[in-house]
Amino acid sequence: MEKTLLLIKPSAMQRGLIGEVISRLEKKGLRMAGMKMMMMSEDLIKEHYAHLLDKPFFPKIKNSMTATPLIACCIEGVGVVDVVRKLTGATNGREALPGTIRGDLSSSISENIVHTSDSLENAIIEVNRFFKAEEIFEYRQVAHSFIYAGDEV
Ligand code: ADP
Repeated sequence: MEKTLLLIKPSAMQRGLIGEVISRLEKKGLRMAGMKMMMMSEDLIKEHYAHLLDKPFFPKIKNSMTATPLIACCIEGVGVVDVVRKLTGATNGREALPGTIRGDLSSSISENIVHTSDSLENAIIEVNRFFKAEEIFEYRQVAHSFIYAGDEV
C-alpha cells in the first residue's frame, strides 16, 4: 500500500506537540509503518531540501531542522501522500486552513511543525532517504476493515 514520509520537526518537539501530531494521523486511520528519532546531518538537510539550496532562507531551514532531534514517520494508507498533505496544510502556518496541522498549531512559515512528502514520486524517494528496508514494518491493523470498505483497498 502507498506510503509517505512525515517529519515531526524541532518546532513540534519543543512545543510538546509530538502526541498531537501522531494522534491526528491515528484518528484518520493511517498506519504507522516506521518511526524513529534522529538528528538531521548537514548532508541530509542539503539532500532533502535540495530544491531550496539557493534560497536566501536556506540557513534558516538548516538551523531550524537541527535545533533538536526530530521524529521521522513512515505512514501508510490508501492515497496516503495526498491525504497527509491535506492534513498538513499550506507551508505558511498563518495561511494554512484551520483544521490542518499547520493551520491549528503553527503561526510561522519556517517553524511549521511537520514536513510531509508532496508527491508519490517524492514520497518513495524520501521514505528510502530516512528509513532502511528493515525499519519499515508490515503488520495488519485489526481495525482495517472498519477504516476502509473492501473495494477501497
Ligand atoms: P513544504 O514544507 O510545505 O513542502 P517547501 O518545500 O516549499 O514547503 O519548503 C520546505 C520548508 O522550508 C518549509 O516547510 C519551511 O520550513 C521552510 N521554508 C519555506 N519557505 C520559507 C521561507 N520563505 N522562509 C523560511 N523558511 C521557509
